[in-house]
Amino acid sequence: MNIYINGSFYPKEEAKVSVFDHGYLYGDGIYETLRAYNGYVFELDGHMERLKRSADLMEMALPMDEEGIKQAIYDTLFKNGLKDAYIRVSVSRGMGEIGLDPELCPVPTFVIIAKQFFDYRKELYQEGVKIAIVETRRNHPETLNPAIKSTNFLNNIFAKMEAKKAGAFEGIMLNHGHFVAEGTISNIFMVKNGELMTPPLIAGILEGMTRGLVIELAEKLGITVYEEMFTEAVLKDADEVFITNTTMEIMPVREVDDKVIGAPGKVTKMLAEAYRQEVLHYLKTR
Ligand code: PLP
Repeated sequence: MNIYINGSFYPKEEAKVSVFDHGYLYGDGIYETLRAYNGYVFELDGHMERLKRSADLMEMALPMDEEGIKQAIYDTLFKNGLKDAYIRVSVSRGMGEIGLDPELCPVPTFVIIAKQFFDYRKELYQEGVKIAIVETRRNHPETLNPAIKSTNFLNNIFAKMEAKKAGAFEGIMLNHGHFVAEGTISNIFMVKNGELMTPPLIAGILEGMTRGLVIELAEKLGITVYEEMFTEAVLKDADEVFITNTTMEIMPVREVDDKVIGAPGKVTKMLAEAYRQEVLHYLKTR
C-alpha cells in the first residue's frame, strides 16, 4: 500500500507525519471519505466542494487547487492499482510549534490513503441493522459546527463507544434541542405513510453526499421529502428507517434501540435500487 503525503508516495510502514502536526496535537484538520467504483470516484465534484467548504469554515488554505487534489486522488488509485476503493483524503493545519495559533503552521499536511473496497456483508442489507440512540449529543453548531467534516472526531467517537456497548451497528445522536441529528458516520432517514423525512441541515449535521443524492432520487421517484426535525419517539414509530453514507450507500435499519422497525421496506428498497442505477449511469457516462 502506497500512501500519498504532500506530493510523494510512501509505503504504509514509512508513511508518517510529524508529532508537531496540529492534526495530531489538536485534531486541527479536515477530511473526506470517497468511494471509487471500477476506477472512477463517485461524486468527486461534490466531495471537492465540501472539502473546500470545510476549509473555508476553518479559515484553512487547501494544499492545492481542486484539479490538483483530484489528480492526486487518481494518482493514488493508480499507484495502488485500485479500481474499487475506499479513499480517505485528509488535510491538517500542518506542522508547527506547540500552540493553538493556526499561523504557527504555514504549510498544510495533505494525505491520501486508498485501499481496496470490500462490500459490507449482504445480510446487513437484506435484514437491516440495529441502531442505538446514544446519550452523547451532537456538537452544537456554535461550538464545533458538524457541517465541517473535521478530523476532530471525539464527539462521534464517544457516540460510537456507546453504540458498541449497546450492541448496535451505528449510534444516532440527538442535537442540543433533543431532536434526531445524525449517526457517528451517517445521516438518517425515516419513512412514514410513504413519505420520507430526514433532519434538516439546521439540526446541526453534516451535509452528506449520499443524503443529498437520496433526496434528489426520492423527488424524481415522486416521493414526498420533508427535511424536518423529528424526535426519537417519532423515529421509533416509523414504517421504515435507513442510514446513509458514501461507503455503505443506503443501509436499512431493522431496530432502533429495542423497537423493531422490521425488514427493509418498499421505499428503502426503491431508493437503494435507484442509487445503484445512479452509480451505473455514472460509470456508463465516463
Ligand atoms: N454524518 C457524519 C457525521 C459522517 O461522518 C458522514 C460520513 O462519514 C455522513 C454523515 C455521511 O456523509 P456522506 O454521505 O458524504 O458519506
